[in-house]
Amino acid sequence: MLIDGKLDKTSEEEIHYDFDLFVIGAGSGGVRAARFSAQNGAKVGICELPFHPISSENVGGVGGTCVIRGCVPKKILVYGASFGPELEDARNYGWEVNERIDFNWKKLLHKKTEEIVRLNGVYKRLLANAGVKLFEGEGKVVGPNEVEVIQLDGTKIRYSTKHILIATGSRAQRPGIPGQELAITSDEALSLEELPKRAIVYGGGYIAIEFASIWRGMGATVDLYFRRELPLRGFDDEMRAVVARNLEGRGVNLHPRTSITELVKTEDGITVRTDHGEELTADVVLLATGRSPNSKRLNLESVGVELDGKTKAVKVDEYSRTNIPSIWAIGDVTNRMNLTPVALMEGTCFAKTVFGGKPTKPDHDNVPCAVFCIPPLSVVGLSEEQAIEQVNGDVLVFTSTFNPMKNTVSGRQEKSIMKLIVDAETDKVLGASVCGPDAPEIMQGIAIAIKCGATKEQFDSTVGIHPSAAEEFVTMRSVTRRVSAGKPKTNL
Ligand code: NDP
Repeated sequence: MLIDGKLDKTSEEEIHYDFDLFVIGAGSGGVRAARFSAQNGAKVGICELPFHPISSENVGGVGGTCVIRGCVPKKILVYGASFGPELEDARNYGWEVNERIDFNWKKLLHKKTEEIVRLNGVYKRLLANAGVKLFEGEGKVVGPNEVEVIQLDGTKIRYSTKHILIATGSRAQRPGIPGQELAITSDEALSLEELPKRAIVYGGGYIAIEFASIWRGMGATVDLYFRRELPLRGFDDEMRAVVARNLEGRGVNLHPRTSITELVKTEDGITVRTDHGEELTADVVLLATGRSPNSKRLNLESVGVELDGKTKAVKVDEYSRTNIPSIWAIGDVTNRMNLTPVALMEGTCFAKTVFGGKPTKPDHDNVPCAVFCIPPLSVVGLSEEQAIEQVNGDVLVFTSTFNPMKNTVSGRQEKSIMKLIVDAETDKVLGASVCGPDAPEIMQGIAIAIKCGATKEQFDSTVGIHPSAAEEFVTMRSVTRRVSAGKPKTNL
């Protein structure tokens, strides 16, 4: 061990390492890999910066993006935002909502912060209970078998380790627009002191769509700018159109095919200018234009770890190993499929491969996911466009568009849509999508069926749960359309 550059003499002949594994980054993937490696008998250290619960000034915190400034706080805000429309829907169910209803943003923020602090503690206990040693500080790689932890007081301590795992995640990236420093990213959006009355959201991905729904649900005027015809590029085009329609139906102003070119501070707020010559002023502008891997401050290139030239993601093989045999990487920093459960899977596979005696590759096929807009979208497997591109033969498309039973009484004008993509030759279900209430809860079970290779016939022979929306997935009898392979994918 080296303390502030001084050597702690250890016999070099017997190659004794301080740790079997040192993990840099205690987010979902890092914590999972550390715990499971320790459970397999490894001596494990992990480092992570501490976090301040209501500040977005640093990127640290045991629990990582998902727990501290991602999935968990976002979902709490989605729940919070859903009550407003639910109260409207309740009127026709006999609830008299006559008095003025106030929404107390500060109260929700406080409750959200309490929950994040609790979960941060839970994650720390999980590490401690597994026997993993946690170091609070910034980690760097100084050699194939050596890491350095810069502690909060500036002291640098080096540890030798047989394996190093990089699990440092990703951070919000800004698109490079003049005046962009006036805008916030999702980090700050989760901790705003005041709820904006007027919000502008820039981007058409997960984060943009989710925050547009959250702020609109809480009563703000929301304008969503994105550069394509439809939001959510990469998802099934038909489902993207449904999400756009639902956002509009709930009062979000959509500005497709529009780029923001400048942000200016004005007396009335922040004014954005667009490539169409429009101007609009809001209290808050959220930039949700993607995230980039946290690989820069780790000293990786100087120890020879290969990064992707464009994204700076850590390059790994199918077992999550870098080009340096003792250095591994998982999660968003590898930019494979940037979802928490995928990082968990990669962490589990890493522990099995390196310390469990069972080399295991993470399987990135048929990973289900959800966009937590209101109502949510959830998908698994191939979209119609991907199936047309990838399947050698015809594809059968089954769709069902219906008025959810709850809406018949509430009077809400919003249809749910479900879709199955089937290989015409093998009858295998290749993909499923649903946009409507409880979509992610429905999709998890469908994902198991698709992962098991279920056929459409097996879907059809499954008895429905009645009355439910989910039963549509086993009652879609007639083909909506048959499409042929080889057509180019649209690029809306
Ligand atoms: P996404 O990659 O999902 O979307 C980025 C959006 O920004 C796209 O619409 C993209 O447009 C647009 N964009 C990118 N660069 C520019 C630019 N220079 N000018 C204008 N628009 C631009 O990123 P997010 O930030 O929304 O989320 C990051 C990732 O985090 C997601 O991909 C997902 O993996 C994960 N995530 C998952 C969630 C979940 O599971 N529910 C929730 C939140 C995040 P275009 O399509 O044209 O490239």
